[in-house]
Amino acid sequence: MRVLVPFARRKQPEIGYVIGIKKSSEYECKPIVRVVDQVFDDKRFELAKYVSDRYFCTLGDSLKLLVPPGTGKDVDNVKSKTERWVRLNSIENIDLSKIKSDKQLRVIHFLMDNIEAPAIEVMEFTDVTRDVFTSLQKKGIISFETKEVIRNPFYNKNIEKSTKLALTDEQKNALENIDINKFDKYLLYGVTGSGKTEVYLQLIKKVLNEGKTALMLVPEISLTPQITDRFIGRFGKIVAILHSRLSIGERYDEWKRINEGKAKIVIGARSAIFAPLKDIGVVIIDEEHDSSYKSEMNPKYDTKEVGEFLSKMYNAPLILGSATPDVRTYYEAKNGEIKLLELKKRVSHFGLPDIKVVDMREELATGNRTIFSRLLYHELNKNIENKEQSMLFLNRRGYSTFIMCRDCGYVVKCEKCEVSMTYHLNENRLICHYCGRTLNPPTVCPSCESKNIRYFGSGTQKVEQEIKKYLPNASIIRMDVDTTRTKNAHEKILYDFKNKNIDILLGTQMITKGHDFENVTLVGVLAADSSMNISDYRASERTFQLLTQAIGRSGRGSKKGRAIIQTYMPEEFSIITAKEQDFEKFYNVEINIREKLNCPPFCDIIIGVLSGSDEEAVKSDAILFHDIFSKFFKTFKPMPAPISKINGEYRWRIIIKEKLDEDKRKQLKKCLAEFFANHNTKIKLNFDINPNNMN
Ligand code: ADP
Ligand code: ZN
Ligand code: ZN
Repeated sequence: MRVLVPFARRKQPEIGYVIGIKKSSEYECKPIVRVVDQVFDDKRFELAKYVSDRYFCTLGDSLKLLVPPGTGKDVDNVKSKTERWVRLNSIENIDLSKIKSDKQLRVIHFLMDNIEAPAIEVMEFTDVTRDVFTSLQKKGIISFETKEVIRNPFYNKNIEKSTKLALTDEQKNALENIDINKFDKYLLYGVTGSGKTEVYLQLIKKVLNEGKTALMLVPEISLTPQITDRFIGRFGKIVAILHSRLSIGERYDEWKRINEGKAKIVIGARSAIFAPLKDIGVVIIDEEHDSSYKSEMNPKYDTKEVGEFLSKMYNAPLILGSATPDVRTYYEAKNGEIKLLELKKRVSHFGLPDIKVVDMREELATGNRTIFSRLLYHELNKNIENKEQSMLFLNRRGYSTFIMCRDCGYVVKCEKCEVSMTYHLNENRLICHYCGRTLNPPTVCPSCESKNIRYFGSGTQKVEQEIKKYLPNASIIRMDVDTTRTKNAHEKILYDFKNKNIDILLGTQMITKGHDFENVTLVGVLAADSSMNISDYRASERTFQLLTQAIGRSGRGSKKGRAIIQTYMPEEFSIITAKEQDFEKFYNVEINIREKLNCPPFCDIIIGVLSGSDEEAVKSDAILFHDIFSKFFKTFKPMPAPISKINGEYRWRIIIKEKLDEDKRKQLKKCLAEFFANHNTKIKLNFDINPNNMN
């Protein structure tokens, strides 16, 4: 249980965890102030022990993952909440022809769909201010009510009820091959649109029938109303949703519903793996290849491993689903460690989209300097004419705008970080994406005083401008980190795209996953190469995955889809195999390369980054680290990290390549302890196993 205890000489009591009872202690003891709550049972305590042991964090750190949201530090800061709601009085009495105001009509239409909703949300979705409500209230069309709310993370809208679909033979076969009464690891490998989600839905139904609960994880950015609606539509209120865009209050309320057993299905992003479900009957990890399943913050857990631990503990199946499995997962499936279930065909009888690859070097050679190939431009126009929708995908990594002097090559870099700063059009400022420093863009080169300063690359903002220039009649909406900062912004963009039939959705990675828009028949990938210029052994895998996911958004409804991939490297095998939509072929090439280079899955990669403001001290700590670890592991020489300075702190990196088994993990732990006992405490160590980011 959790208790409040006085600690040392601190004024405020602190939260402590009672994990066992001793008759006497070598320490001075004070009475407990009060018991807070009993949030762990034995199973959850086992889970915390597993996490701290496997990911080298303290038990305190791993227990924090399991407590109600927002109560880790201060147990009393989450309160219940009231909210003003707007309600449509009655639809019959309204003569819509008498209402002249566009804004009022928008509110009425919104409420006709939703009946009632929080005032704030109505304002957000209809783009009106409070005075519109006042006018409508005077006319007797709407009324207000103050409600104490269970903060409900999904929309307060009517979600269409859905019933189970008659499964295709492939779906039926997959479902029948999953034994829900024992632990096993399965890979549900199904092309985009092959109906994996329907398999999850019916599998969960089976598990519920046994009186058990279900945990389903999806990547953060695909946790859209589309996905959640399908589950709520099928199962109603027993579904709980957890992700980081919810307010703490909302997460707290959902957590409580789960803990009290009122919610039996949890759908959430990475951290939902720690939701307080009891008697779990299945753990599903959708889009299992997604990098967001690896936590980069302490505790640096891998959701798939934690999922496996949970499944074993509850004797339940673990389902990993993907159209583009992680190379490691597929390797295990090939070796028989994971049971392979395949869905090879799309449900829609139109099949996968027609895919064309355009060589942008040829476009350039023939005088086309725009971001669109002639083919993509032509197809976009065709879609606009036919009132069909298009999605344009820009892989932003490496393609954000930076400023360079044409005469001397000077690039504006952050004064505190070894990285170039990114130009943001809206603010007309340069921003460092590592430390957040901003700067006015220079008009003369700080190095050679030339006025020949140019903006390079094409961030989404710049692409948006180009689209407006070349396709002046197109309506367009942009989705990237800049346009999705505020709460619900993400949902609103997708809602508008769908319901206002906007011609083009332009976006970064976040538009490629999970979305199912019936009217999207064209997907354009503006620059397929940018994920290949990263010095990471997963670059090809990431490219293949991104392209396949992007392509998969096209032609999901009742019309055939098309996809166009623009690239400067059409001969790359990840692009060729993505065009052919041949994962098997991609995998066979890739796994050979991995074996030759001794990369995962043939080994694990362990990275230690040491950082601090005194470069000499960082270096000597790096040498100490190397000396300790190289006695037992294949450890490479310490070097300055690829990004050698962040926010004024110097960074050195050590790479260890070793296949980790239980014994090796124990040894790793011993080495870490030895390092911490002897190192310079001013220097920080960031230690991670198979991290996403090698920089
Ligand atoms: P995936 O998760 O593999 O991308 P979905 O589950 O989203 O695929 O299915 C794609 C589309 O096909 C969805 O619109 C879904 O409603 C529909 N669908 C799935 N299974 C069936 C089925 N057995 N019969 C009819 N339609 C189906
Ligand atoms: Zn910086
Ligand atoms: Zn210059």
